[in-house]
Amino acid sequence: MAEIELRGLTKRFGKMIAVNAVDLDVEAGEVMCLLGPSGCGKTTTLRMIAGLEWASAGDITIAGKRVNDLRPAQRDIAMVFQFYALYPSLTVAENLAFPLHVEKQTREQIAARVRRIAKLLELEHVLDRLPGRLAEGEKQRVAVGRAVIRDPTCFLFDEPLSRLDIALRQEMRGQIKTLLSGLKRATVIVTHDQIEALTIGNRIAVMRDGLIEQVATPHDIFATPANLFVAGFIGTPQMNLVEGTRAENTDDRLALSALGQRVILPIDGTARTLPPVGEPLTIGIRPRAFEPVNETGPDRFSGNIDVIEPLGAETLLHISLGDHDLRVVLPRGAGLRPGDRLHVRPLDGQVLVFAADGRRLAP
Ligand code: ATP
Repeated sequence: MAEIELRGLTKRFGKMIAVNAVDLDVEAGEVMCLLGPSGCGKTTTLRMIAGLEWASAGDITIAGKRVNDLRPAQRDIAMVFQFYALYPSLTVAENLAFPLHVEKQTREQIAARVRRIAKLLELEHVLDRLPGRLAEGEKQRVAVGRAVIRDPTCFLFDEPLSRLDIALRQEMRGQIKTLLSGLKRATVIVTHDQIEALTIGNRIAVMRDGLIEQVATPHDIFATPANLFVAGFIGTPQMNLVEGTRAENTDDRLALSALGQRVILPIDGTARTLPPVGEPLTIGIRPRAFEPVNETGPDRFSGNIDVIEPLGAETLLHISLGDHDLRVVLPRGAGLRPGDRLHVRPLDGQVLVFAADGRRLAP
């Protein structure tokens, strides 16, 4: 049985359904990221698990016990909203120990817990310092440590890194990941930052309009998105989504009429599962899944380069195909200029096919 189980979890605010019959399992030791655009119901889901909102329907089970009717303090959870200020006149060790004093532990037990958390967060060398003498990253780590030092069944984080600047956020992502894997608790993190979800989460639940669209590992979410929404939401630059119709009844490849061209795309042995000839479908190709080729041909897209955006070691090219903008990322230094003609071939195994209703059909 999963450590946190949600079944049919629903929240209505008047007539508005903020969370719509959500089912989700979070295992012990697992970090589950709830990811989705603003207003999709992530925070409301987290607040219901925490007991800060009552569920309108459905069940919330934590460690085998239905907790719907329990108050937050009775649910054995630690919730981290965002990093809060430290007590300036207490040392790092005293700040870390602060939440443990209500638990009636012995001095030795408290010291052992402080040492464990300090080790996980690499704070052992600053335990005797006052917060005023810490670097910004160390202060943030103490704040996280103080939030997680109790040993509850699960941790709930709401946008934990959203207030940090980019450099510190990058540093803290790695540290939070290490910390959480050391704590071995069921953890739910709400974020709208896909990099955060892809780096920290063992699995990601992508939400939209109160529904879960897909739950999968970061790799699977990226490689095999369940539908067009997830495909377009995950990945930067965004996946190319090209609408077309099936042009021929081939088996080992897809003949597609799209963007005023007829293209033959590689899709291994799955063509039989596709809709019949003449039916609409959408193909998805990531901007990094193309190779440039020298001349035009049936298995490639050809168009003029509209805009070139430098991305450090790579270059993002916007290629104009009729009124469609094809995004292609190539290594920097290809000597290309706006207006140049470019032919790009999708790489084998990198073309996704979606049905008219948005479901992924292949691979
Ligand atoms: P964000 O990233 O912007 O916080 P979210 O995915 O966390 O978005 P929620 O905060 O869960 O989304 O909100 C889901 C929907 O429920 C939104 O449309 C929001 O306006 C609505 N909502 C949330 N709390 C309340 C409330 N107390 N009363 C009425 N509507 C609410």
